[in-house]
Amino acid sequence: MIIIMKPDAREPEIQEVISELHDNDLKEVRMDGAERVVLAVLGDDRVLVRAKINSLSGVDRVMEVLEPYKLASREHKPEGSRIKLNGFSIGGEEIIVMAGPCSVESEEQLDRIAGEVKAAGAKILRGGAFKWRTSPHEFQGLGLDGLRIIKRVKEKHGLLSATEVLDPRQVEAVAQYSDILQIGTVSMQNYPLLKEAGKSKMPVILKRGKWATYKEYLLAAEYIMAEGNENVILCERGIRTFVNETRHTMDINAIPYLKEKTHLPIVADPSHATGKRSLVAAVAKASIAAGADGILIETHYDPTQAATDADQTISTENFATLMSDLRKIAAAVGRTL
Ligand code: PEP
Ligand code: MN
Repeated sequence: MIIIMKPDAREPEIQEVISELHDNDLKEVRMDGAERVVLAVLGDDRVLVRAKINSLSGVDRVMEVLEPYKLASREHKPEGSRIKLNGFSIGGEEIIVMAGPCSVESEEQLDRIAGEVKAAGAKILRGGAFKWRTSPHEFQGLGLDGLRIIKRVKEKHGLLSATEVLDPRQVEAVAQYSDILQIGTVSMQNYPLLKEAGKSKMPVILKRGKWATYKEYLLAAEYIMAEGNENVILCERGIRTFVNETRHTMDINAIPYLKEKTHLPIVADPSHATGKRSLVAAVAKASIAAGADGILIETHYDPTQAATDADQTISTENFATLMSDLRKIAAAVGRTL
């Protein structure tokens, strides 16, 4: 159940509703919107007498949300959410591009890539300091040193940063160095990590598990939101299918489907979805055409030498060309870039 307060509801009126919930052993998530306060009721709300809630003076209306992902659902928030970042937002008219190497390899490497992606129009610098590798013998990332490099480089270039956090115990540290936390595909159902990311109140890019249904995915987002953090950006990054010629399969359906079901913004990651640099541009364009609010791209000035995910990394030169192509697609679907 979602309780929508009147725009002019005063704090004691809000507290009256919250007390009623607590008297019935229910919890709430409070969302202080620009216009009004919305309370999402957590728990078995069948115990509540609807008429009583409706009669409380600050309450505008009560909505039953049928979807299990109550906070993420578009049922209670028909207008799309904009995740506000420093100077711009994700989920509005503007398409936001996040670009950078798969892994931070050195300060010189990230500095050069940051300069080139910024010049091409990217707003967010991506790059992993903690890498989740299939083999323990592979490069695991520069760790804390990598985080320090990210902070110095993004500040130098006037970019924001997004970097992956793998472990709930790292959330606080990563939040000190990066503007956005990224939760990778393998961690989508790491509920302790999702809760910590929720408590941090930081913007979070939550990548879809490569195995996850839409419902499982939105319920993962719900874990972050249930901690009072609405700053969730979804990311379709390809799923496992029977196709083994590409690394994953971009589930293009996910973009319009999720747009229908949730108010959260959605970005697309054609790099991990294809695993092949020759396919990245086409799938990036398709994703914008399908309604994605942003794109996440792995790029490097010397892509074949990238420490991780070299096969899907495009050159910074091709990235700049792709950006001008994406501008045309964005304009064709009524967006800017
Ligand atoms: C990444 O962005 O480098 C990454 C590891 O992505 P994913 O979790 O989607 O595999
Ligand atoms: Mn990668």
